[in-house]
Amino acid sequence: MTHSTIIVGSGISGLSAAIVLAKHGRTPLVLEAHNVPGGCMQMFQRRGPQGACRFDTGVHYVGSLSPGQTMWRLFRYLGVDVPTVPLDRECFDRISLPSGDFCVPVGWDKVEAALKRECPAEAAKIELYVAKMVRVEASLNWHSLNPDAEGAYDRELFETSLEAYLQGLGASARLRSLICAQSSLYAVRAAEVPLAIHAAVVGSAVEGPHYVEGGGDAITKPLVSRLQELGGELRVRAPVARVLVEGDRTTGVELVNGEVLEAGEVILAVHPRVAVKLLPEDAYRSALRKRMANAEECIGAFVVYGTVDPAADLTDVGGHNHYLLREDDPDCFYDPQLQGPADAIVNLPPPMSGPQLFSALGSARWEWFEKWENSRTLRRDAEYGALKDRLTSNIIAMVVQRIPQLRGHINVIDASTPLTLRDYAGYPRGGVYGMQPGLSAQGRNGVRRRTRYAGLYVTGAGTGTPGIFGACVTGFGVAGAILGTDALINEVREATHPA
Ligand SMILES: Cc1cc2nc3c(=O)[nH]c(=O)nc-3n(C[C@H](O)[C@H](O)[C@H](O)COP(=O)(O)OP(=O)(O)OC[C@H]3O[C@@H](n4cnc5c(N)ncnc54)[C@H](O)[C@@H]3O)c2cc1C
Repeated sequence: MTHSTIIVGSGISGLSAAIVLAKHGRTPLVLEAHNVPGGCMQMFQRRGPQGACRFDTGVHYVGSLSPGQTMWRLFRYLGVDVPTVPLDRECFDRISLPSGDFCVPVGWDKVEAALKRECPAEAAKIELYVAKMVRVEASLNWHSLNPDAEGAYDRELFETSLEAYLQGLGASARLRSLICAQSSLYAVRAAEVPLAIHAAVVGSAVEGPHYVEGGGDAITKPLVSRLQELGGELRVRAPVARVLVEGDRTTGVELVNGEVLEAGEVILAVHPRVAVKLLPEDAYRSALRKRMANAEECIGAFVVYGTVDPAADLTDVGGHNHYLLREDDPDCFYDPQLQGPADAIVNLPPPMSGPQLFSALGSARWEWFEKWENSRTLRRDAEYGALKDRLTSNIIAMVVQRIPQLRGHINVIDASTPLTLRDYAGYPRGGVYGMQPGLSAQGRNGVRRRTRYAGLYVTGAGTGTPGIFGACVTGFGVAGAILGTDALINEVREATHPA
């Protein structure tokens, strides 16, 4: 069977784009290098003391999922039913700094009130900050589902850093710490993150944070079924080696095994640094090509996975995400150390069936793992295992210090390193969200969805904002580039009115 459109990469952006196009009469084929679909939505299974556990890799919680909100509407438009559980409205993210704790509640109005309680002398600055966040989010057309929103063209939003904005406000060190503490949701320092990225990512979390019941599988499986129901196809173990072009248009792709697959449209839904290797050399202006090839990667991800003993009392700590930072300046997350208690974002999902799961996302330098870059997963030596053990102990030391209820109750089952992310999601240096969504890679400096070749497009988290919501938006964005952005936004709006 020939396909109208080939999509390379089966993360949420690739699958979303494929379904939207299938709904418009295309016959998409999604090609995935790995042996399972989903990209960062993949889950894995391990046996722990309380039996088999299935762990999430890249879906701890997702924002904008309350009925009527944008992510909820995008799932609805795609035709998938994703079971979700709302996070604690008074404290979905608990920030733990040496100078004290702060609970982030759901809703910007509540965040404003909570920040004012913490920093009463700065009430006016807090009002300005919150109003700015709400305005910025509303100005992004896909985030707000408003075809007339023009924030994507507003240079100020993509060229002003959060740090510069907060300095302009005259925010105190404490207020800055509380505002920047969730930066691990996009993994960029305050001085390098554009205001638009902070507003889009933190805004969606603040407005509708939900756990996905069943984790990444509960998103990937219905998306794949829906794609197949609409006549699309998915092939796993199908790594693409290059995109083929003839004259001024694409003609398909060649797989690593030499097989040629023809299509009039090709969408690369992979890390931009991978995309640039698959594209013909002149697909983009050379300046953009160089930027993509040398794109800075987010800080590496080191994640500890485990379970919590049933004897632990989780009354005040379960069902929250805990941002445990070793310094009051949240930028410490981007300067990981080999010694001492380490920064960690702890996720304790509400107990579903089975044991209470635990994960702690820490940061790690690629350089610590570089010496094993030519080795294969599950075949690494004892020294690698010892480094994993050391980083795990550093994270657990922080966890039991700041969440004493967990002391003696965590069963560590496994840990993943930047190499794991490279091997399972194709992120070249194992950066937590792949390419850094910093000032040098956004707005005018950002990856363009259209290339010089007709029918050839690039999408994925690296072309927009990281996270499930952000990446899904980029999938709709690329479908919009093909079908007409305004028409598609209007169609999504009309088709997904909350009942
Ligand atoms: C540790 C971690 C925790 C996270 N936690 C959260 C969270 O709690 N909430 C949230 O919203 N987001 C979270 N994220 C981020 C979120 O999961 C990602 O931003 C999002 O899933 C990225 O989707 P994507 O479509 O860009 O592609 P990806 O998921 O990156 O998928 C790209 C796919 O392309 C495939 N591929 C690469 N090269 C080729 C090739 N040559 N041929 C064929 N296929 C190829 C890869 O194998 C991969 O499957 C987390 C990520 C990580 C790593």
